[in-house]
Amino acid sequence: MRSFNELGVGEKALKAIAELGFEQPTPIQEQAIPVLLTDEKDFVGLAQTGTGKTAAFGLPLIELVDFHKPITQALVLAPTRELCVQISKDMMNYSKYHQSANIVAVYGGASIDTQIRQIRKGAQIIAATPGRLIDLIHRKAIRLETIRYVVLDEADEMLNMGFQEDIDEILSHTPKDKKVWLFSATMPAEVRSIASNYMTNPFELTVGRKNEGAENIEHHYYVVHERDRYASLKRILDAEPEIFGIIFCRTKIDTQRIAENLIKDGYNADSLHGDLSQQQRDKVMARYRSRTLQMLVATDVAARGIDVNDVTHVIHYNLPDEAENYLHRSGRTARAGKSGVSVALVNVRELDKIRQVEKRVNKKFHLSKIPTAVDVCEQQLMKLMKKIHDVEVNEKGIAKYLPSIFEELHDISKEDLIQRVVSIEFNRFLDYYRNAPDLNVDIAHQGRSRSSQNGESYRSSAPRMFINLGSVDGFDRGNMLDYVMEMTGATKNQVGKIDIKGVYSFIEMEEQALPKAMESFRGEVFNGRKVRVEISGDGERKSFDGKKSKEKRGWGEKSYKRNESFSGDKKRKRKYAGR
Ligand code: AMP
Repeated sequence: MRSFNELGVGEKALKAIAELGFEQPTPIQEQAIPVLLTDEKDFVGLAQTGTGKTAAFGLPLIELVDFHKPITQALVLAPTRELCVQISKDMMNYSKYHQSANIVAVYGGASIDTQIRQIRKGAQIIAATPGRLIDLIHRKAIRLETIRYVVLDEADEMLNMGFQEDIDEILSHTPKDKKVWLFSATMPAEVRSIASNYMTNPFELTVGRKNEGAENIEHHYYVVHERDRYASLKRILDAEPEIFGIIFCRTKIDTQRIAENLIKDGYNADSLHGDLSQQQRDKVMARYRSRTLQMLVATDVAARGIDVNDVTHVIHYNLPDEAENYLHRSGRTARAGKSGVSVALVNVRELDKIRQVEKRVNKKFHLSKIPTAVDVCEQQLMKLMKKIHDVEVNEKGIAKYLPSIFEELHDISKEDLIQRVVSIEFNRFLDYYRNAPDLNVDIAHQGRSRSSQNGESYRSSAPRMFINLGSVDGFDRGNMLDYVMEMTGATKNQVGKIDIKGVYSFIEMEEQALPKAMESFRGEVFNGRKVRVEISGDGERKSFDGKKSKEKRGWGEKSYKRNESFSGDKKRKRKYAGR
């Protein structure tokens, strides 16, 4: 393996990266740096975050850019603000010993005036998100005719996020003889077409993704009933009291909802997704980085480029639509030589997705069991022991209370005292978990419902509620269960089998919960349609008060805020099915 010096990295950058702890080049650095330094060719690199690609393009840029000239010579485009900021920070670090280097990040959600001022000071390298850069171009605050290098980072993600037109426009403002260096984790046709439209005979490089085969990531999956997904998540979290994790959901709405539920249930969690303002996102990330926040619930896009070390667990609350994204997600753990665990919650119908992802990762996943109540209590007990062991005793503070405390406890032995202290916490968990069901689905007998195993669930003759919403509205069993629970206040145990059809669905419900549930849909509007629910038992459909269905229509208006992303979800699902 060649050293950075042998690859052609200059003295100043060598000193800077040595201070960052870069001893040996990563594979992509070893292969890309000498090629890019020749300044002869366009470049396409198939690589993802975590492979060291920022330095693979950043170090050559620093050598090629003339820092004595206060004009913009290189542009790095990235899909998200987080990645954009990360890139500019990394480049500032590499160019620490280049005195006149001026590297600026421009992105939405921050003051454009400040960014314009920074550019005008003579930024030689600009890292930008496409939308903000277009703004700057339109305001004539940036000149691109002096650009010699354009780096498109995470090109696939930029296209996924709808930046194609922006990229076209940006590139149209740059000189014809510039070099384009494109990095992408995947190479769909859209990315190929950028390569063919804007590059001439590029040098192509694919690097083995550092994270996919990473021996230091363990991949687990749990098979659960759809209705138990959230309870299973909590069980996993309870059994891992020291977790520092990222929980991935597929949609912004799910991300928000799961985070809210976790917070409500007493967990140290918060959400990160595109609907948050930049300020809110920064705040969440600052809390996470400082580990004040234990669990980040995030969408794929929002979590791209997050480079936080020591993440112990990545939890896939839902598997991503694309197997490729599983890699991006799981690569958030086991960074910088650490080990990590990637955990997926799936229902039986999603088992084939696990097989697809296994193929992509090229590793066998462990089928694990959702921790039982006993497992959880044991873990919590050990956490308490550790806490007691590690606590810093504030001798001064408690001194004045001690005599009366000793007096109160004088007849209790050390062993007895330990048992009592532990019991205070332990009993709380035991109480909580006393009747906790086994949440694992027995795959070998998956045809049988949970009821046939523990007698607690629904007979097929249980009353069913008809609802005029179905898969065309973006519902699957999971989000229909959430929707029904949220609307009606019913608990998971009161809802049985959910049968999703095209434009309608059937939901089994406990008999006592039905009247209230039916009533709660009064006036509900979803996607501009009035929601209609009816009791559908013994082959006959009745409206909620027992009259024939047609009589009960035209309730008042009440809109439901989640419609937008249910339909977004639908599009993605099709994509998965088509794979
Ligand atoms: P990236 O793929 O650019 O997001 O880099 C992932 C992480 O690896 C970052 O924290 C980099 O600072 C770090 N890194 C990049 N190159 C090296 C190297 N040659 N040696 C050690 N760490 C590196």
